Amino acid sequence: MQILDGKKAAQAIKDELKIAVAQRANEGKKVPHLAAILVGTNGASETYVASKVKACAEVGFKSTLLRFDESIYKTRLLDEIEKLNYDPDVDGILVQLPLPKHISNDEVIKTIHPDKDVDGFHPVNAGKLIQGLPAFVPATPYGIMLLLEHYKVETDGKYAVVIGRSNIVGRPISILLSSNSNPGNCTVTICHSHTKNLKELCFSADIIVAAPGKPEIVTADMVREGAVVIDVGITRVPDTTKKSGFRLKGDVQYETVAPKCSWITPVPGGVGPMTIAALMKNTFHSCLMKN
Ligand code: NAD
Repeated sequence: MQILDGKKAAQAIKDELKIAVAQRANEGKKVPHLAAILVGTNGASETYVASKVKACAEVGFKSTLLRFDESIYKTRLLDEIEKLNYDPDVDGILVQLPLPKHISNDEVIKTIHPDKDVDGFHPVNAGKLIQGLPAFVPATPYGIMLLLEHYKVETDGKYAVVIGRSNIVGRPISILLSSNSNPGNCTVTICHSHTKNLKELCFSADIIVAAPGKPEIVTADMVREGAVVIDVGITRVPDTTKKSGFRLKGDVQYETVAPKCSWITPVPGGVGPMTIAALMKNTFHSCLMKN
């Protein structure tokens, strides 16, 4: 069994970006600028946004964090996004999800200009991705592809089972894995909450991407010997032995599944860091496209 070490692979990507950004700065060119919007004080969202801002500093990007109270009016939030859309210094805009209930995710996502949509959630980018056109690819699935590429995991002709059909993870990763590319060229099945034979489907898979958001739902009896297992899940479960009061659990029962795998991602330290590295790559490309 070998570990798909997301921390290491993400560091390699960030190191490359750091050099490229420094080179741009030396040439007097603009450095990438990511603007992040955080509404409310959700603990997990705070952590994710802080990691993204920190990664920007590491690679030499400029970042702006706009924080708003949970009670912000939808119109005000949309106005703030429009301002960023028109700000020529801003290359990428991300709005940390989830948003408070009175604000529709879809409306907010559609307000971000597709050319600054470094999270790749805008319908224009989703449509381009489906058609194989250049697009901002959502950071988590993009990060998974970068991880497979980094470790040269063979995907061509393999059977991949994706658990989860969200626009953020399940659907885009199923498109990327099935696309005519390397990594890619998989035969893909998407499973979801209504799938009847999840265990059988998983057991026949060469590659499993688990993103149901249900801790340890993938157990050893669902995984065949030699499978590649990508665990996207991050759920905070209470743990009184931790200072924070919680620990992170993946969607895969790591202890029992790992010994059967050819490759597996740990949680934490797998897909999480790759998501941030992919976001940095998207922001860098956005800057290149515009400047
Ligand atoms: P989501 O809730 O939007 O989607 C979950 C999907 O799983 C749904 O499509 C649902 O149909 C399916 N599902 C739920 N229970 C199932 C079951 N028992 N069997 C089969 N399918 C089932 O979640 P999401 O936004 O796609 O995120 C999924 C997980 O990935 C969460 O734990 C989330 O925290 C994590 N995540 C991690 C990263 C990262 O950077 N590592 C990024 C995004 C999401």
